[in-house]
Amino acid sequence: MPALAVRLPSPSAESWDWQLSAACRDADPTVFFHPDNERGEPRASRIRAAKRICLRCPVRARCLNYALEAYERHGIWGGYTEEERRTLQRMRDVGRAPDSSSPGSDDCGRT
Ligand code: SF4
Repeated sequence: MPALAVRLPSPSAESWDWQLSAACRDADPTVFFHPDNERGEPRASRIRAAKRICLRCPVRARCLNYALEAYERHGIWGGYTEEERRTLQRMRDVGRAPDSSSPGSDDCGRT
């Protein structure tokens, strides 16, 4: 069986202690994770509530960075929904790809 590609931070306290300052620390977690089949205005309302909490969060950037690095698939992280993070993730992945327009990128080792 192939090993799973887990992208979690290291287990050291420094990797996780930002959560101690999270604005959502005492918030209702159901605000950040949608129930099954949630649609329309209830979903939009819940997302707005979560984003309002994230806006005042002192560790928002670290939260978002963690979620992107770990490919978190569910919930609001760093003020971004799952769909918004997928867009950010694609942009990051493209940014990490070799630049196909750079000189020499298409020579394939030919001389
Ligand atoms: S940015 Fe939002 S989800 Fe992340 S720790 Fe802060 S309040 Fe919680």
